[in-house]
Amino acid sequence: MSNPLAPGWLAPPADANALAPGVWSMGAVRASDGVLTIAGVDVEALAAKYGTPLYIVDEADARSRAASTRTAFDVALAAIGSSARVYYAGKAFLCTEVVRWVADAGLGVDVASAGELAVALAAGIDPARIGVHGNNKSGALIDRAVAAGVGSIVIDSELEIERIAATAQLQRTRQRVRLRINSGIHASTHEYLATAHEDQKFGVPIESAPRLVAAIRASEHLEFLGLHSHIGSQIFEAEGFAEAANRLMALHAELLDGGPVPELNLGGGFGIAYTAADDPLPIAEIARRMAGALARAAAAFDIPVPVIAVEPGRSIIGPAGTTLYRVGMVKPVTVDTADGERATRLYVSVDGGMSDNVRPSLYRAEYSARIASRTSDADPVLVRVAGMHCEAGDIVVRHEYLPGDVAPGDLLAVPATGAYGWAMASNYNWVPRPPVVAVLAGASRLIVRGESIDDLLARDPGARSPRD
Ligand SMILES: *Cc1c(COP(=O)(O)O)cnc(C)c1O
Repeated sequence: MSNPLAPGWLAPPADANALAPGVWSMGAVRASDGVLTIAGVDVEALAAKYGTPLYIVDEADARSRAASTRTAFDVALAAIGSSARVYYAGKAFLCTEVVRWVADAGLGVDVASAGELAVALAAGIDPARIGVHGNNKSGALIDRAVAAGVGSIVIDSELEIERIAATAQLQRTRQRVRLRINSGIHASTHEYLATAHEDQKFGVPIESAPRLVAAIRASEHLEFLGLHSHIGSQIFEAEGFAEAANRLMALHAELLDGGPVPELNLGGGFGIAYTAADDPLPIAEIARRMAGALARAAAAFDIPVPVIAVEPGRSIIGPAGTTLYRVGMVKPVTVDTADGERATRLYVSVDGGMSDNVRPSLYRAEYSARIASRTSDADPVLVRVAGMHCEAGDIVVRHEYLPGDVAPGDLLAVPATGAYGWAMASNYNWVPRPPVVAVLAGASRLIVRGESIDDLLARDPGARSPRD
């Protein structure tokens, strides 16, 4: 029975135990006893070994998405006589292990802070395959990036041209740079906006680009690689990318008069399914449509198609991740609906929350969930999965139907949490951040250690041990 508190996109499921295709990582299946397994590893065993909450990454899933993204762009760009570079946007989830997975698949890595750069370098990736971003790069980040010999630094404002040139001069080198354009296009999930100017902090206006590129070219310590644009995140359609390709190619063609422009970087932002209602365009289709727009623009301006760079983060690591929680409390809450009826939703509270996944509270992001420790024949009821934090907005899954007998002690799994979960985690309420484990072929291993309360106390210089 449909609950009037449920949103239109969420129907009561025929089977509240089923794992929706496209939402769960490819290794997620229920064993014959009903327990969820990922890559052949039973989640009860994972909970016993590592505790909950726990971030689980399906390694084969992440590796295959990295490889298939690379193939999709290679094929699409080869068909129009060019080639592609794919950078993994490390901010989605970065640790040395993941850097190795994406490097094995032939991807580079984008970083946006001194910390992210340190992780990429610590993983041993060739620095030439690292791209550096940021609207306010620290001096330490620029120094380290130039010294390491990163493949490109994306210049984000006029002042930065001089800063990077000066650093390269001091280090007696020449740094390859891109110039980020505020294209006036902003895309999010189902719509895109194309305006003359977008009111946001990243990039430089299109009209100032020729002057700034001339300044870059005038420096003997900089080498201009091309333009950069990133139009948003969690984008489901290809129109925004096609429009950005059009605008950037017009500028790119103009810049060719003053010297070489070998590449064009169109950013990331490819959407993924968080719930069964999400239906993102496959990456291969986005690549094909992007290439189509590029080929048309190249013909219109009578220029060759440049090497195209893209920077997906979420679409590579997001679907590979699952968060495992333990249910601690359930509580029916009855409210008045808009039609003056009364309806009940079951609040299911788990042992994590906005400290391990802030996206529901930050963006009202939707997720889905399943009982992971068993299946159940109980009729589905509308639930809201809440966290354990002192904040009414601390929601893990805003709307979901789960078997009505969901109870304390059950394990609950939330799929598609691989991107921007651990990466944005906090210690709110002095909650230690959970570990991340990779699962592959029936085995699990820690790829990021979790914190303990002692780790947190160690940062408080006034803390006394209980024996003092
Ligand atoms: C965040 C970001 C990306 C990656 O976005 P996803 O939505 O994770 O694909 C790529 N490029 C830039 C410049 C970004 O800021």
